[in-house]
Amino acid sequence: MRINVCGVGFDNVTMTEAIDRAMKILGGSQTCYAVTPNAEIVWEAMHDESLRSLINDASLVLPDGAGIVLGAKMLGTPLKEKVAGIEFAARLMEAMSHSGHKLYMLGSKPGVAEIAAEKCLEKYPGLQIAGTGDGYFKDEALVVGAINSSGADVVFVCLGAPKQEKFMRNHQQDLNVKLMIGLGGSLDGFAGNVKRAPQWMIRCNLEWFYRLLKDPRRLGRMMRLPKFILAVRKEARKKA
Ligand code: UDP
Repeated sequence: MRINVCGVGFDNVTMTEAIDRAMKILGGSQTCYAVTPNAEIVWEAMHDESLRSLINDASLVLPDGAGIVLGAKMLGTPLKEKVAGIEFAARLMEAMSHSGHKLYMLGSKPGVAEIAAEKCLEKYPGLQIAGTGDGYFKDEALVVGAINSSGADVVFVCLGAPKQEKFMRNHQQDLNVKLMIGLGGSLDGFAGNVKRAPQWMIRCNLEWFYRLLKDPRRLGRMMRLPKFILAVRKEARKKA
């Protein structure tokens, strides 16, 4: 059963359970996709029905960020834990380095996916990278062809929301992979272009503040976080 946070249903899983679910999908025969919405995306989805259904139709909906965990708690239906997209991707690469499943990295500016692949290969020896591609393509059919001919099992789709969710849903039928995962700016993180906050800030749920300090242009986007919390409060009052 999923936990409903303002119209978005989140899978109530720990990181370990999320990896188990992904490995189960890799053992199956269908093409599935996973999403990792944060509070900003849920705020968007509250006002965009098509984005909401793209998210809710995913096989795995993981709570990326402290805002979602707080929202679920305020609604009286707590989630087990935060499952940050980038950490989920890292844990999955570790598992894939043992299972032999192949990974395609799609997204970010030209050159970034290649650097991310090199760094991840160093970190997870045994990981098989089937291919890489940047996220500023014009012809989606060419990208689908490249992924299919690479023999990949998993695709990290890092195009930002909602572009990545639309891409995954639009190509669910024509891609031969088992699992696509929408991971926003994660390839920039793996390539080392964008540093994550220090561990103490992550622990204190202050990663958003670190990202804001590093890139003040995010302020407009981040204003959706307090709006999200207010919307949750309103919904919690309705429920009470
Ligand atoms: N991006 C892309 N193609 C596009 C638009 C964006 O590949 O047409 C990439 C962009 O380079 C960045 C990522 O998508 O690497 C979005 O990062 P952001 O930090 O906005 O995503 P978040 O993790 O916050 O969802």
